[in-house]
Amino acid sequence: MTTAASLLAGATAGAVNDSNPVIPAWSGPYGGVPPFDKIKATDLKDALEAGMAEGLADLEKIANDPSPPTFDNTIAAMERSGRLLDRVTTVYGIYSSTLSDDTVQATERDIEPKLAAFRDSITQNEKLFRRIATVYDARDTSNLTPEQKRLVWLQYTNFVRAGAKLDAQAKKRLSEINQQLATLFTNFSQNLLADENDRFLLIEDEADLAGLPDAVRDGAAANAETRGHKGKWLIANTRSSVEPFLTYSTRRDLREKVWQTFVNRGDNGDAHDNNKIITQILQLRAERAKLLGYPTHAHWRLENSMAKTPDRAMELMEAVWKPAVARVHEEVADMQAIADQEGDGVKIEPWDYRYYAEKVRKAKYDLDTNAIKPYLQLEKLREGMFYTAGQLFGLYFKPIAAGTVPVYHSDVRVWEVDDAAGKLVGLWYFDPYARVGKQSGAWMNAYRNQERFDGDITTIVSNNSNFVKGKPGEPVLISWIDATTLFHEFGHALHGLSSNVNYPTLSGTNVPRDYVEFPSQLLEYWVATPEVLNRYALHYQTGEPIPADLVAKIQKAKTFNQGFDTVEYLAGALVDMKLHLAATPDKAIDPDAFEKKTLADLGMPHEIVMRHRTPQFGHIFSGDGYSAGYYSYLWSDTLTADAWEAFTVDGKGPWDKEVAERLRVNVFSAGNTRDPAEEYRGFRGRDPGIDALMRKRGFMPPLAAGASTTKTAK
Ligand SMILES: [Zn+2]
Repeated sequence: MTTAASLLAGATAGAVNDSNPVIPAWSGPYGGVPPFDKIKATDLKDALEAGMAEGLADLEKIANDPSPPTFDNTIAAMERSGRLLDRVTTVYGIYSSTLSDDTVQATERDIEPKLAAFRDSITQNEKLFRRIATVYDARDTSNLTPEQKRLVWLQYTNFVRAGAKLDAQAKKRLSEINQQLATLFTNFSQNLLADENDRFLLIEDEADLAGLPDAVRDGAAANAETRGHKGKWLIANTRSSVEPFLTYSTRRDLREKVWQTFVNRGDNGDAHDNNKIITQILQLRAERAKLLGYPTHAHWRLENSMAKTPDRAMELMEAVWKPAVARVHEEVADMQAIADQEGDGVKIEPWDYRYYAEKVRKAKYDLDTNAIKPYLQLEKLREGMFYTAGQLFGLYFKPIAAGTVPVYHSDVRVWEVDDAAGKLVGLWYFDPYARVGKQSGAWMNAYRNQERFDGDITTIVSNNSNFVKGKPGEPVLISWIDATTLFHEFGHALHGLSSNVNYPTLSGTNVPRDYVEFPSQLLEYWVATPEVLNRYALHYQTGEPIPADLVAKIQKAKTFNQGFDTVEYLAGALVDMKLHLAATPDKAIDPDAFEKKTLADLGMPHEIVMRHRTPQFGHIFSGDGYSAGYYSYLWSDTLTADAWEAFTVDGKGPWDKEVAERLRVNVFSAGNTRDPAEEYRGFRGRDPGIDALMRKRGFMPPLAAGASTTKTAK
């Protein structure tokens, strides 16, 4: 507390500056929008300092309120507080993830430890905690609504979990740890970004493009041009560039080179090497868990998740691991057979997997993913997502004319979202293309949470991805996997847009980590429905819908390569959990050695590498968010698979209005107002079982026609 207070006392004098465009409340249409047209990266630092100062002052006022603690003057007052910091961290987050440059990175290095200290100064504020505890103790006798009770429970639990009950010395050490971790997280991410930006394959001879489809060549040419190598081709060291290259390039030597560069991000023994950082993070996390009274960091993280304990998460992962590895051996045998047949003289190595898998797909399912791509136009699929949102949840998207709402980059577009009655629900920002300074992958972000307790405030959400921009004026064609990811992130957006709660802390996607992927994974299914494909998977030249026989092949190949997908992911999830169960405050874990040994013990097939190797595992080392939590995707997918069967097996199909309404009411609109397990039961009428997941991945036979899941569910 002292650290943050003194930092802030020094900082506030010059920081609250009326001319800083990040500071004022958002004005303009739609309940106010971020003034991106006025903001510069150099405005962020002062605005963050001002936000922390205001946040601290707000909370001091609540803590020192002379009247006895009540829900309204304590818990609701906390919901009202810190609005400036909410706005500023939103803008700061957008700059960090999509517009990173030297200024932003310097701000991160300066501000991240201060933010950590700021958060500690709140949870370590004894007067404030005593008031929260008083409201918490009286929660059953003070006429609170169920949502208010949930909020009280959550705030109290968050404070205790952050060390509110520790003695002064332990609190001081905790705060030191959090600040050190914040710096290490920043260093980790910046190292990773550097290896993704600075390392690449530059192709000068067109012959080296052998096997690459036109769209991949065009993307590589565009990449080269934006980086000052006009007339050449550049394969960037990011997933969206690397994976198509590994799938199609017939040049095995170049596949190996690209693969090596990609899987060694953060692991090159140079200035951007992440291994030492990981060792320190693991030790500090273990020390923090001990301080807080938990056996390990994993136990601490999982306590307020849906899984609750590392054991339950491990149990699920282990149940899926063995059948998935067995499937990989079958997949490799299929690939080896093709390689032998073609006389390639190849023993399948990790850089061959995607290449030969594609050949197996063609041979076994007669499915050429390149034949699908001409039907997958980014903008048409976006319309397909809007159609899905309208059909399932009665949400309608209207484009906002460029220039009406400010954007932070010319690639960004904005839509207004209304409900069936035409009432404004929120805004949706879409930032689809890759660029230097943007983090790789795809994600959803809430700029503002829906809330109602002090007047209606509508949400603002965004979807971000890294599609490679093609030639100007030509439609951007994407892969089937990318189309699925697009719907996934849109699922998160709909979770935010459907939110119908009172308090922002409980709003939208502010739910436990192993539950948050459930709505998004569920939405992935709708991209493959005939209704979406026939209307929106249209050939970019002829406008013809995707042929029915191609759709049938896609459906038939649904469980293809599930061994690879599951093992690639699960290896990461298991290493994450085992690292955080093994770490102690005084043992220095060597990440590379630990990864190697753990995978060997697990029987990891040598033809596959973890989806994110430890030195580049941003999910777990660029913040606490997914640490000991990468299993969440599988946990959520168990719910997802089971929920899909509510539509397709127990209901009338993907568009069953009654099932969709139950889903909206109990899950998409409910935020964190109820325990996730309860929300799920409200939707499904029972707990989820694992069988639907095993069927989804093809590790168990599909249900016979006319079956009901109620007989098989556990
Ligand atoms: Zn997600």
